[in-house]
Amino acid sequence: MEQFKMRIGSEWRGASNGRTFESINPYNGEVWAEVPRGTADDVDAAVRAAHAAFRSGPWATMTASQRGMALHKIGDAIAAHAEELADLEVKDNGKLKAEMLKQMQYLPQWFYYYGGLADKIQGDVTPFDKAGIFHYSTFEPLGVVATIAPWNSPLLLAVWKIAPALAAGNTVVIKPSEFSSASSILFAKLCEEAGVPDGVVNIVTGFGKEVGEPLVAHPLVARVAFTGSEGGGRHVYENAARSFKRVSLELGGKSANIVFEDANLDDAVKGAVTAIFSATGQSCMAGSRLLVHSSIHDEFVERLVNFMKDVRLGDPMSPDTNMGPVSTQPQLEKTLYYIDVAKQEGARLVLGGHRSTRPGTEKGLFVEPTIFVDVRNDMRIAQEEVFGPVVAVIKFDTEEEAIAIANDSNYGLAAGVWTRDLRRAMTVPKRLEAGSVWVNAYRLVSYLAPFGGVKASGIGRENGIRAVYEYLEAKSVFINPTPGVDNPFVLV
Ligand code: NAD
Repeated sequence: MEQFKMRIGSEWRGASNGRTFESINPYNGEVWAEVPRGTADDVDAAVRAAHAAFRSGPWATMTASQRGMALHKIGDAIAAHAEELADLEVKDNGKLKAEMLKQMQYLPQWFYYYGGLADKIQGDVTPFDKAGIFHYSTFEPLGVVATIAPWNSPLLLAVWKIAPALAAGNTVVIKPSEFSSASSILFAKLCEEAGVPDGVVNIVTGFGKEVGEPLVAHPLVARVAFTGSEGGGRHVYENAARSFKRVSLELGGKSANIVFEDANLDDAVKGAVTAIFSATGQSCMAGSRLLVHSSIHDEFVERLVNFMKDVRLGDPMSPDTNMGPVSTQPQLEKTLYYIDVAKQEGARLVLGGHRSTRPGTEKGLFVEPTIFVDVRNDMRIAQEEVFGPVVAVIKFDTEEEAIAIANDSNYGLAAGVWTRDLRRAMTVPKRLEAGSVWVNAYRLVSYLAPFGGVKASGIGRENGIRAVYEYLEAKSVFINPTPGVDNPFVLV
């Protein structure tokens, strides 16, 4: 069994009370790692180390260009260890090795992009409205940034926060999910090897109540970047509000994937599969509501069922596997619960709907790909996030109706539109209440493209140039360069 430690300042250590917890491989049920069960004392030590590194020492005095170079080195270190990082993710969350490897090989781009941006953050000299006064504004880092991530794409989602935070000159305390700590721990090790000064990147592993809450509440934390569930986000927002911290929240979704009657059906079927069944449905942006025009509905559903009935469930490390297990026991229970809810609500099951009994899946947390049709948008299966391989197919007759159904949700993370009509491709995205809209595509993300939600899907945006300003604060400097000259207008 592998043993992991936390990085706090210059030290690698266990929890202050010596306790640990286990990491379980969802494919075979094996306990494969032991991870420190961090405490409020560990949080305090990590935040203080991060604060000290922010205030003084090499990080605090580096030029922005030097910081950018440091980020490039982190990117190189990730690239050199992509396979190892992918293996850790697969053992922790059961996602396909093929997907995790691609994710890890793409991850350095965040450090190259934000590393390149580090010395391009510029302030302004203002043509000031009071004679004799020189005014400029500049952007300054905030201090200690707490990053809190879920288990579904553990390191990717942490990096979306860490890369811009470091580029801006902050220091970080990383709190990974209790279900998937390993990749973030290796990441902290890679930062150390890449020469990032002690205290700049810290990690405290453990549970939401024991580590997450004291971290969010800590008076020396300036900013909280959270990705997780709607409920978790509410706790974090309330907790952070008590000390007026800046917060970003990337939360859940119930995204509508809309297939119009003029869509290329081959593409749309594959797109619908990618939207909901990749990552075993455990994706915040999953296209879990599939809206299909009534004129193509039956054919579309038949094609979708035919496509999905042959998918291979099994070992996520194997290149032959199409869909892995769900990641955690609670997630398995939640998925099966919602399958029952959908049945009771009168949705009609056309595929799956139960735990897998296929040979080779007995020890794992496998759920059959599940398709419900005859779903109404007011059913719980259409309104609540399952976060598993379950799609709710909803029929519509007109474009107006499709848009109204898509927007009739507490969530607003993402949406898909399948059409060959240029007018639709150009006008429907604007009318959808969602942070990201894909037309004839789904599940595209990039370091270049802002990502985040509206409504209960969250607050703030990650990725793209503007994300770096989420980790900076403007400062206004007013200079009276003429000693002895009175400024009678000082107040207004
Ligand atoms: P979760 O809210 O249970 O946990 C997320 C993280 O928050 C974990 O590290 C957890 O330990 C921590 N946490 C929990 N309670 C806390 C508290 N009171 N204070 C501080 N930290 C706390 O979510 P999860 O089950 O790990 O992740 C699945 C959810 O994440 C889904 O709802 C999914 O949609 C969402 N998600 C959103 C995005 C996005 O970008 N919008 C991306 C991936 C996942």
